Amino acid sequence: LFSAVEMAPRDPILGLNEQFNADTNPAKVNLGVGVYFDDNGKLPLLQCVQAFEKTMMDKPTARGYLPIDGIAAYDAAVKSLVFGTDSEPVKSGRVATIQALGGTGGLKIGADFLKKLNPTAKVLISDPSWENHRALFTNAGFTVESYRYYDASTRGLNFAGMLADLNAAAAGTVVVLHACCHNPTGYDITAAQWDEVIAVVKAKGLTPFLDMAYQGFGYGILEDGAVIGKFVDAGLDFFVSTSFSKSFSLYGERVGALSVLCANKEEASRVLSQLKIVIRTNYSNPPTHGGAIVAGVLGNPELRALWEAELGEMRVRIKAMRQKLVDGLKAAGVKQDMSFITQQIGMFSYSGLSKDQMVRLRSEFGVYGTDTGRMCVAALNSKNIDYVCASIAKVV
Ligand code: PMP
Repeated sequence: LFSAVEMAPRDPILGLNEQFNADTNPAKVNLGVGVYFDDNGKLPLLQCVQAFEKTMMDKPTARGYLPIDGIAAYDAAVKSLVFGTDSEPVKSGRVATIQALGGTGGLKIGADFLKKLNPTAKVLISDPSWENHRALFTNAGFTVESYRYYDASTRGLNFAGMLADLNAAAAGTVVVLHACCHNPTGYDITAAQWDEVIAVVKAKGLTPFLDMAYQGFGYGILEDGAVIGKFVDAGLDFFVSTSFSKSFSLYGERVGALSVLCANKEEASRVLSQLKIVIRTNYSNPPTHGGAIVAGVLGNPELRALWEAELGEMRVRIKAMRQKLVDGLKAAGVKQDMSFITQQIGMFSYSGLSKDQMVRLRSEFGVYGTDTGRMCVAALNSKNIDYVCASIAKVV
């Protein structure tokens, strides 16, 4: 039965992890994966999460099936976070939101629904993008192409190229946009550039799919959510996927969501009914634990304030590490201006290092980033930063 099955290529990032785990260099540093570690190099268990789990343990409940679209309070909390509690779309009931298995699950439910809705549409993703975007939309049956985004020659954005590519797209093309903290480059477009993108999306009749995996890691929860408000104000209907993997440090609980902004409440209920069919025929209904934690924390004013403070700490620590990286590289003798690293935002930095340099960093120094030069700034800490800077200085 399986004799003709070919071996699939290894996931590039997970492959890097395996290589890291097997590395015997005691000074090794893993900047490959997209995970936030605290200053002790540990994956944090947020206090707000622990506090809510304690209340769950004090009052154990049975684990029945959840509704197909998830915990109602969770979906309501997602809507408030993404669109704003008092926003018109939330008040008028024209957002269809479902609890999903992480941000990936939100993207996949959206992709499967879109494929039924508009089977001949193409999907455009940024060049480069989170490596799973292409595979996910391809596996949902779409032809996936890219729009220009990063310009290696300037180590910055090619915004003119991005706009030109969006302008050239056929009506109905699905455009996947990183709402904030672009993965992998760390470069976001400005508010004024978003306005230009929105104008093209509207004029050309493109379908925006905003991937918001890092709300709160850029400038703040509201600040990062502002781009959603811009799409609402433009009168567009669109998709937003949400991930709490990073913002709650709940990677393994698979907590995310998909929200679809529709023209009105009645349309939203029809869209929701279709999203439920996609869910029902894939995994029936979502798991209880992670969703209960997020809904519990967001629904309790004290725990929510604690969450915002803890998320703020993560955001501030990453920014401090960016500055330390720039200063440390200079101190280690790197002559090039590396200050662009502080213009980038979120968990990642496109360092501008070549594949050869990244390979040398791994093999000679045990410093692991991807071959594209992407480094996870959120894995730097006060103990490994000097070593990382000294290592980079030796390869550039
Ligand atoms: N989108 C982007 C841009 C991401 O970086 C990630 C996580 N690396 C995801 C989606 C998926 O998030 P999750 O782990 O919650 O599925």
